Amino acid sequence: MKRIGFGVTCGAHRLWSHRTYEATLPLRIFLMILNTASLQNDIYEWSRDHRVHHKFSDTDADPHNSTRGFFFAHMGWLFCKKHPHVLDKGKTVALDDIAADPVVAFQRQFYKPLTMIFTFYIPTYIICYYFGEDYYSAFYLSCFRYCFSLHSTWLVNSAAHLYGVKPYDTRINPRESKLVQILTVGEGYHNYHHVFPFDYSASEVSWTQDLNLSTMFIDLCAKLGLAYNLKKVDPKLIQSRVERTGDVTLNQIYLENRSGSFKWTSVLSLIYLLLIIPVGVVLVRKVFF
Ligand SMILES: [Zn+2]
Ligand SMILES: [Zn+2]
Repeated sequence: MKRIGFGVTCGAHRLWSHRTYEATLPLRIFLMILNTASLQNDIYEWSRDHRVHHKFSDTDADPHNSTRGFFFAHMGWLFCKKHPHVLDKGKTVALDDIAADPVVAFQRQFYKPLTMIFTFYIPTYIICYYFGEDYYSAFYLSCFRYCFSLHSTWLVNSAAHLYGVKPYDTRINPRESKLVQILTVGEGYHNYHHVFPFDYSASEVSWTQDLNLSTMFIDLCAKLGLAYNLKKVDPKLIQSRVERTGDVTLNQIYLENRSGSFKWTSVLSLIYLLLIIPVGVVLVRKVFF
């Protein structure tokens, strides 16, 4: 079920918000369905907020400005009226390319009924059918899955802006967070991502060196001819940027740790992916029944 997260990471984030690669129509439809199941606002709205976040990061014009504290950046911003600067400056962000995609337009037009089907009905049905759970257990588990994925995504805006190292640019708030990397299936290297938002892998190293499930998915799609024009940053550009704005010593230690022989983040990512469903089933049964 966690693979539904690809609809946000590979879809709304890396494909629609940042255009880090291009996708064929079947892949865009598939990602739109997964994205709908994640119920984190439709692709147009999510991408609009995210582009504003990148352009005006950690200012009053940032929808989830982390300088206003962990809770505001995590989920508080969704309970407040938007700061006037978010509305004003948000109008300066171009969204024509997203609005022009018929897959995005379809999702936006039928968003509410689609979320009922893909966020709750189908997950509940799958759990009932494949795991033999009764209807109520399955429904509670689908709600648990939804809440868990929401908080995982929100941690990018909160934890990954407040806790962690800054090897690429010490002047900005976004940081590298291994915990967020695991929970978001590949979006935790946030200092790198804010410096190079056009990199399709959202990470300096490849997923074979440090498992990044979202990048692995995009590479698989590229092999199948469903994704193309994958953008990657030239290592020389990364090096010169680290020398100019980052921390050279920290970056060396950081990269050595990430490409060491035992990649605990990779192992934990795999375990997390494989165990999330049965663990969730057990939790629901223990807690509610
Ligand atoms: Zn950010
Ligand atoms: Zn981004």
